[in-house]
Amino acid sequence: MAKILLEMRNITKTFPGVKALDNVNLQVEEGEIHALVGENGAGKSTLMKVLSGIHPYGSYEGQIFYDGEECHFTNTKDSERKGIVIIHQELALVPYMTIGENMFLGNEQGSSFKINWNETFGKGNEYLRIVGLSESSRTLIKDIGVGKQQLVEIAKALAKHAKLLILDEPTSSLNESESKHLLDLMLKFKEEGMTSIIISHKLNEVSYVADKITVIRDGSTIETLTKGVDDCSEARIIKGMVGRELSDRFPKRQSNIGEVCLEVRNWNVNHPLYTERKIVNDVSFNVKKGEVLGISGLMGAGRTELAMSIFGKSYGEAIHGTIIKDGKEIHLNSVEDAIRNRIAYVTEDRKGNGLILSNPIKINTTLANLKGVSNHGVIDRDKEYKVAVDYKEKLRTKTPSVEQLVGNLSGGNQQKVLLAKWMFADPDILILDEPTRGIDVGAKYEIYCIINQLVSEGKSVIMISSEMPELLGMCDRIYVMSEGKFVGELSGEEATQEKIMEMIIRGADNTVANSAS
Ligand code: ADP
Ligand code: MG
Repeated sequence: MAKILLEMRNITKTFPGVKALDNVNLQVEEGEIHALVGENGAGKSTLMKVLSGIHPYGSYEGQIFYDGEECHFTNTKDSERKGIVIIHQELALVPYMTIGENMFLGNEQGSSFKINWNETFGKGNEYLRIVGLSESSRTLIKDIGVGKQQLVEIAKALAKHAKLLILDEPTSSLNESESKHLLDLMLKFKEEGMTSIIISHKLNEVSYVADKITVIRDGSTIETLTKGVDDCSEARIIKGMVGRELSDRFPKRQSNIGEVCLEVRNWNVNHPLYTERKIVNDVSFNVKKGEVLGISGLMGAGRTELAMSIFGKSYGEAIHGTIIKDGKEIHLNSVEDAIRNRIAYVTEDRKGNGLILSNPIKINTTLANLKGVSNHGVIDRDKEYKVAVDYKEKLRTKTPSVEQLVGNLSGGNQQKVLLAKWMFADPDILILDEPTRGIDVGAKYEIYCIINQLVSEGKSVIMISSEMPELLGMCDRIYVMSEGKFVGELSGEEATQEKIMEMIIRGADNTVANSAS
């Protein structure tokens, strides 16, 4: 049997009001890739923060054994000295510094008085090649995409001589080919003897790389599955995560569809910077009362741009077209106009523009409808609190209190706060952009239930999603968008993944043919 490199024994960690970890055990063998899975808020990140010394020795109970000895890390420097390097869920690179500077931040090359820049950039380049980047280490971080930034984080870990590499949801903001590259890199490092721990919600990725899978639920270890020995199918892992068989991933709904409530005609949007470039090209569509309408398409098809441009011209240049709501033409020149006309857009980028992470849940919940909690222009703090508690209960947001900062919540619970914020604004039409991205199966199911509840109250939901099964499982009707255009429309019953893909491909071909002629 291979050597046990890491053992975490009976780890218990409590935050005010929450027991995040309750006697958790984890064993990792040298040279393996060990996946840690569990629903949002299960305690995965906390466990890794305990391991790396972010939650220092003394702030938790239990023991950590690494490489044969018991460890008492008081900060990340301690754990890094042993070769334990963690890459966090939120990337922590400094945008206006070079790749090289970021890589050696806190690990500067040269003497403590003078940084050796040639060595910094030279070594920087070497590590970049190892992770498959051809950029110069003198490039600024802000000039490379998130996929490459993630690879820089790994190069940075290598520069610290990582022996145990921990990746906390590394692919949640990467596209498919970037994710594949990263996972293959993990497999290559494994060949070279490295041990890694990966946290991921994407179970297909977990089965691709992991030798063992430890399931955590509500702060406790449920089980560890070994590839080749145990059943490691997705269904099996999901069962461990949610504690029950999830036979139906989409809750049933009795559709009760009414009249058209929003119609968009000949909508056109140009790129905000490259103003001659058309991003949305003559799009027309409608949505009915009580309907869940899907918009399908590949990344870059223009769906978010379409939604944001409708939502008070939050995106784009030279926007023109007609919006008709309840039979009357309306003009939405600002977000306030959109809200006043009871249209809400729930962004895909909840950290960027949906929520104020440094503020408590109660403030975030009422952000889009301050009037609803004010008396004569003054915010009534009791009302604010009560509204936030109502939504917390209604949406089953997992948190001890609405005083909690949103930044401390897990992804699925942040998403619920964002939904609460827009539900409290009481819109007729909710545009949900990737509403379940980066959240686990259990929280996804709850969000689907919320959507069903909204349409049963006669509201309309427009759902933009890159996950086709989700659109197929939830929508009454689906439009297909490709390269700025709507290229097809399918009813929920007739829609299949194949039909949608075919429309996307055929639509893209037509676009090329049009621009060539
Ligand atoms: P996961 O990574 O599995 O999604 P986390 O480890 O982030 O879950 O969170 C576990 C629980 O601990 C959650 O209930 C979360 O809200 C809580 N929690 C995590 N960090 C903090 C913190 N700094 N302060 C208060 N509560 C926290
Ligand atoms: Mg986490």
